[in-house]
Amino acid sequence: MARGEQPVPERREILVKGLVQSVGFRPFVHRLASRFPVSGFVRNHAGGVLIEVQGDRDALDRFAASVLEQAPPLSRIDAVQSRMVAVQSDSGFTIRPSEDDDSLDVLISPDVAMCEDCLAELFDAQDRRHGYPFLNCTNCGPRLTIIQGAPYDRERTTMAAFTMCAACEAEYRDPRHRRFHAEPTACPTCGPQLQLLSPGGEPVESADPLALFRQAILRGEIGALKGIGGFHLVCDARNSAAVGELRRRKRRDARPFAIMVREVQTAAIWCDLSPRERELLQSQRRPIVLLRRRREESPHSTPLAAAVAPDNPYLGVLLPYSPLHQLLMEPLRDVPLVMTSGNHSDEPIVHRDEDVVARVGALVDVILTHDRPIAVRCEDSVTRVVDGRELPVRRSRGVAPEPVRLPFPLSEPVLAVGGQLKGCFALGRGSRAVLSHHLGDLDHLAAFQAFEHDVGLYEQMFHIRPRGIVHDRHPDYAPTRYARQRAEAEGLELHAVQHHHAHLASCLADNGLNETVIGVVFDGTGLGLDDALWGGEFLIGDCGGFERVAHLRYLRLPGGDQAIRHPWRMAVAHALDAGCEPTGLPLVAPTERRIVERMAATGLNAPNTSSVGRLFDAVAALIGLCRTASYEGQAAAQLEWLATDVVATGSYPFELSQDRTVDTRPTIQAIVQDVRRGVEPARVARRFHSTVVEIVAAVCTRIRSETELGAVALSGGVFLNALLAHEVYARLTADGFQVYRHRQVPPSDGGLCLGQLAVAAARQAALRPTSADSPAGNDR
Ligand SMILES: [Zn+2]
Ligand SMILES: [Zn+2]
Ligand SMILES: [Zn+2]
Repeated sequence: MARGEQPVPERREILVKGLVQSVGFRPFVHRLASRFPVSGFVRNHAGGVLIEVQGDRDALDRFAASVLEQAPPLSRIDAVQSRMVAVQSDSGFTIRPSEDDDSLDVLISPDVAMCEDCLAELFDAQDRRHGYPFLNCTNCGPRLTIIQGAPYDRERTTMAAFTMCAACEAEYRDPRHRRFHAEPTACPTCGPQLQLLSPGGEPVESADPLALFRQAILRGEIGALKGIGGFHLVCDARNSAAVGELRRRKRRDARPFAIMVREVQTAAIWCDLSPRERELLQSQRRPIVLLRRRREESPHSTPLAAAVAPDNPYLGVLLPYSPLHQLLMEPLRDVPLVMTSGNHSDEPIVHRDEDVVARVGALVDVILTHDRPIAVRCEDSVTRVVDGRELPVRRSRGVAPEPVRLPFPLSEPVLAVGGQLKGCFALGRGSRAVLSHHLGDLDHLAAFQAFEHDVGLYEQMFHIRPRGIVHDRHPDYAPTRYARQRAEAEGLELHAVQHHHAHLASCLADNGLNETVIGVVFDGTGLGLDDALWGGEFLIGDCGGFERVAHLRYLRLPGGDQAIRHPWRMAVAHALDAGCEPTGLPLVAPTERRIVERMAATGLNAPNTSSVGRLFDAVAALIGLCRTASYEGQAAAQLEWLATDVVATGSYPFELSQDRTVDTRPTIQAIVQDVRRGVEPARVARRFHSTVVEIVAAVCTRIRSETELGAVALSGGVFLNALLAHEVYARLTADGFQVYRHRQVPPSDGGLCLGQLAVAAARQAALRPTSADSPAGNDR
């Protein structure tokens, strides 16, 4: 352009796709536009946010770059499409109302932790929200857990009952304000209030219910605290009597408790923290992070009660994520609080005030609740770091319903209903998979009812009407029955996917891949194509199909589900199978030996299984570690904890037959021998872990020599075991394999729905024939 010449205005249409609605994106664009010599408008649009902006080219370029660089913290931009449009005569820059479009692709943000601005207000004595436990803004606060319908606005949230005061209303209407269209916005004048209750539900009047609650906890009492997604049970984690009493009242539940601490430095009193772990603890998601405990706690610190997480080298830690938690923790300084799900054993977490007295009243001495209802029950997310990378354990509060990208698109929208034990469903459209929060064991009526309700809610929120449903091959899973009934009623296309194929596809999708790999899938159990319960599987496949090329040798699972609850049964079954006399081993009574023997002989209620999870159970019971489990995977977890700090000294023998069946009878014989010789259980546990690593390495090497496949995907709940996940990865990598692990969704059944969607997408794309699940390989 020559000097003195007027720049020619241009007009550009910019379509921003991704997580850009309900996160303050439009006000952000509005504020940004005021800093440039431009005019135009911004509005929500199908698939994202649409901006039309006019000005000289240089201003437009700088404006567009700033949109990307300075996007609001909760937003996530997946794609930007830009094109030239005709110049118009608008003055100024405005936010236009949305066009009412039924195909609106609204992406609801997860419930994320309080932002820095709100934190500053919370502790600013001059601010009108000073000390208010329910403040929030467009950059933070509850979302998923308060939604009752779509589209997302205040009328369809549990904030509908609270009429905004004039001051809140003014902020809500002001495009320049951080609370512009912050649907859950509230203040002490107009918003929710705390209420203290006795365990029987009688209101306890107090000017400062939170202070009374805190005092009760510090006196050694147990409290129920209503948080974002449900009620937690709370007590002083230093107080052995209080923690012991909580364990006693929760009876059958042996799960480790998580603790909440005020800040990351407090966690460092008891745990070693890597930079990645610090980052995760402080992230907006605020998950429970499983941290390595220090071998020796600092001499100046108060020890944690042993009953918080007995015999466990890890500690689940989380930081305050709501203003209520922040206010509770602030005066406590370095005092850690137990923060565990408010429920009995496997039941879903309590989230309604109507239920709290009946369901956890007997467990607590005091209840702190409030009048903002929780619409969607949502437990804390749990994660851990292995080899510097995240390995999700449970994907829930703070993460759901953030979408995951599929490696290739679905041609039609699909609902994947997932598995049974760690309920989680996924809705897929195009390349996007929206995974639900964690729904727990769907065998529980309350959990299944939540599943049905939440499927409907997600379909409404994301405007996805599925044309197909994909489910596990297991006919008795509650979600499978749901899928079949619904497909029948609505005429939807139905896909059954074999459990371990879904695990393999989940790991591939998690890594954005669809290539043929060796899938090592180790879990509790899943129904195989031959109706045996698989769980120690080596597959070759991609999202479209698979071949089972190796597996653990079958053995009878004595008593089906009973065997899961009672690891001693697996110990007896494996010992008898290996030709060892189980009587006289630490946890076995002679009568029990006879029960298992009879079942194995008749095969009655004793299906064949190749499960690695159950092999872990057997070893845990053989060494006297766990006789009866109060939750699925307890014995295997205890075995991992016991082995964690032991130096590796060799492994046990096993046999890999010509047809690639892995025979662990020599392993069991050697373990029984070690137990009888009085070898320390921790050494046996460690050697057993090394044995599993050797098995994986031997089978993968054999498969590579026969197929030249050099990439391995690791999936299944057994790979939540950090020791195993690390060792298998290290060994295979050293042997020259490319190894893929989970990083966005858990390797357990909580990630199954993503794999089911990926398989459905592959079948729709007909990358493989739809009969891809036909049996093959050495499977007889
Ligand atoms: Zn905020
Ligand atoms: Zn107000
Ligand atoms: Zn599984």
